[in-house]
Amino acid sequence: MLFYDKSAVALALADRALERVRALGLAPTPQAFAVWYAIYGERSQELSARVAALEADGLSLRDAHMDELFLRYLAEDQEDGASDELTSALGTALKLVEEFGGDVQRYDKAISDASAGMGIAGTLEHLRTVIATLAAETTRMVRKNAGMRRRLDDMSGRMEKMRSALKSARRHAETDTLTGLANRRRFDQTLRGPANRAADAGAQVVVMMVDIDHFKTFNDTHGHAFGDQVLKLIARVLSENVRPGDVAARFGGEEFALVLANATIRDGKDVSGRIMRTLAGRELVNRSTGTRVGAVTLSIGLTDYVKGEAPGDVLRRADEALYEAKAAGRNRVVARFGPPPRQVKAATAPAAPD
Ligand code: GH3
Ligand code: MG
Ligand code: MG
Repeated sequence: MLFYDKSAVALALADRALERVRALGLAPTPQAFAVWYAIYGERSQELSARVAALEADGLSLRDAHMDELFLRYLAEDQEDGASDELTSALGTALKLVEEFGGDVQRYDKAISDASAGMGIAGTLEHLRTVIATLAAETTRMVRKNAGMRRRLDDMSGRMEKMRSALKSARRHAETDTLTGLANRRRFDQTLRGPANRAADAGAQVVVMMVDIDHFKTFNDTHGHAFGDQVLKLIARVLSENVRPGDVAARFGGEEFALVLANATIRDGKDVSGRIMRTLAGRELVNRSTGTRVGAVTLSIGLTDYVKGEAPGDVLRRADEALYEAKAAGRNRVVARFGPPPRQVKAATAPAAPD
């Protein structure tokens, strides 16, 4: 049995195999998948020659051929006998499928909804199908033949690869390409999900909106490419000043947004102060022209996430605070406390009869 592939090309092979099974209109069975995987991986000359001969005869390849080819060329030298390793390999494989099955579907949908045009939705769809195929194969194999331990190990290895490919696709979908920070999508998810739940559970959460001062003039004077460098610098300073559980995101253009976990308004002000001081101490030089540009300043609006309130409300308040900071002359931080929790409830819940 030679169609193991521990190298990085395994995913590409799996993808091609799946594509071929589809293109030929074959049932997406584990056997068909395994046959094409082996052909593309050049695992068995006899198998490839046999398939070429069938095709040369003008025979269209059918499901029965796949089963036959699989049995004849690929299912042979399996080890016999069940072992503890079988159970553990199966456990790993099934756990992965369970863990990612639901998740993948959700992400798939979220990503195709939110990032149409990013060119990754198709990849995720593929991965999902491949994982489903592998899962079906795993279950079938254990039922049918405990002697296929090695093959199962391989399946589990490939699932692991799928999983990491999926993870990196997911990371890619949540990352701002210029700065490497979380993107708007991830920020919104954090605000609506974990931050909202934490606030409802009584934790203190701070939301910050950060906007560069006079960045248009800056761009117009020194060029867009230099402007991009400044955005990267700011992203770095922001990440360096938050804690591991926090999220620093590029909200869009020259605006950034942060969620600070387990933090008070006081903490938010401290973080803002550190960020602003760091930037004030950095005299920028445009390397391509040698021009000394001076330091860049920020305006920051921050607020606390009140238990029970809607994510949109906390964001609006942070934005109003930012606007105030701009109106008051820029290069400053303005904090706004949220309303007391009881008021939030009264404002959002339908009026109860007295
Ligand atoms: P204010 O102090 O009121 O915030 O003024 P501003 O000039 O910073 O704000 P305005 O919204 O008028 O301009 C934002 C500018 O940010 C416009 C654009 O030149 C720049 N910008 C937005 N996105 C990018 C980007 O990805 N790269 C670069 N280099 N510049 C960007
Ligand atoms: Mg702006
Ligand atoms: Mg600005």
